[in-house]
Amino acid sequence: MGKLKVAVVGAGLGGLCLAQGLHRAGIEVTVYERDAALHTRPQGYRLHVDARAGVALRDCLPPELFELFLATCGQPGRGFTVVSERLRLLHEVRTDPATDPYAPQTLSTSVNRQTLREVLAGRIEHRISYRSELTRYQVREAGVRLHFADGRQADADLLVGADGVNSAVRRQYLPHARVLDTGGRCIYGRTPLTPAADRLLPAPLRDGFMAVVGGRIGMATGLVRFRQPPEQLAPALSPTADYLMWAVTGDGELFGLPDDRLSALPPAELHALAQRLTSSFHPDLRQLVALAAVPETFLARIRTSEPVPAWQPSRVTLLGDAIHAMSPARGSGANTALRDAALLCRTLVAALAEDRDLVTAVGGYEAEMREYGFAAVAASREAEAAMGARRGGPASWLFRRLGGRALER
Ligand SMILES: Cc1cc2nc3c(=O)[nH]c(=O)nc-3n(C[C@H](O)[C@H](O)[C@H](O)COP(=O)(O)OP(=O)(O)OC[C@H]3O[C@@H](n4cnc5c(N)ncnc54)[C@H](O)[C@@H]3O)c2cc1C
Repeated sequence: MGKLKVAVVGAGLGGLCLAQGLHRAGIEVTVYERDAALHTRPQGYRLHVDARAGVALRDCLPPELFELFLATCGQPGRGFTVVSERLRLLHEVRTDPATDPYAPQTLSTSVNRQTLREVLAGRIEHRISYRSELTRYQVREAGVRLHFADGRQADADLLVGADGVNSAVRRQYLPHARVLDTGGRCIYGRTPLTPAADRLLPAPLRDGFMAVVGGRIGMATGLVRFRQPPEQLAPALSPTADYLMWAVTGDGELFGLPDDRLSALPPAELHALAQRLTSSFHPDLRQLVALAAVPETFLARIRTSEPVPAWQPSRVTLLGDAIHAMSPARGSGANTALRDAALLCRTLVAALAEDRDLVTAVGGYEAEMREYGFAAVAASREAEAAMGARRGGPASWLFRRLGGRALER
């Protein structure tokens, strides 16, 4: 294969992780990101990270950045609890206390998304080209030409579309691939863990992830309590304090507004809507929502991709949400994107070392990625449906049937 020049479109979690791995292996890589900087758009929510992320980050990051990632993770929870809107315990799953929540193979904790992105950009800032919105590409005889919104062009041997759920690369490359709107909507908020908020935390929430079910509106809640404030660990990391992430979830129809108006609501009105939707919840939960950092409230529409039949590999490929976007109900999208990044990196490095054909190597990556990627999409969709069924009525049988697995995170 000789020398290789890789263009990654999208400086999200998957794109940056891939760039780290390739850079570490001495492969020339440039990341093209449409935003002006990593913090241009609010990123303020918690991500659950599991073994897929642990192993991928260990394999791609230089050791000191992997250590920084672990140090900036949140304190681990000890389980997952389902409660009613009046905080009655409905179901509980405990994690095995013998497993190490910070070991790559058994990782199970939270990270602040923006902090993780900053860690992932560490030492490769010079490889990221901001304000570079890809509009289209052209496959040429021995490479790919990228075209950007401002008229610039760039050439590479391989183009990796890591440009998220609305991927421009996917739209051109696999125009038949479909991303469906499940109709589910989430209002996400962040409540700083002031002493007043801390006092209100229900016991199960102190101990791990907590889902509130009962009526037709549900709420997912999780803490990020840093082991040490990120900015104390590395001055380049943005200051971030402990917080509670909450997400008020339900079918969009229950939010009482046509979708275009809902999508246009400013944070303060979204926050007020979240308060109205949870007005029958336990007073402590209501108060936790009331104490939120209101300007950070945002709406997420829940989307899911349909499995795409195998395609002919080429010098263009995809990873993460760009190919297998999924509902956040299982906390799996970022973990799968990171897994893709590590697999693609490993595949390219091995092909280069053994002087194997690039396109065949890409095909090998894609075959494996489609398998586990769309399995993760299906599992996430099932988890979302299970939550919906629980919200729809007295579905305690479902708790027993699923044994908590569908919602475990
Ligand atoms: C509210 C919410 C909560 C979630 N919680 C979890 C969780 O707990 N655990 C978990 O594993 N997953 C979670 N997910 C899913 C997770 O956020 C995504 O799966 C993950 O971010 C996908 O990573 P990615 O690198 O594929 O894409 P992204 O992180 O979306 O990155 C795409 C990047 O591409 C850039 N871009 C887009 N178009 C272009 C273009 N044309 N040119 C150049 N750049 C472009 C974007 O600006 C962005 O930086 C959650 C998702 C949501 C919405």
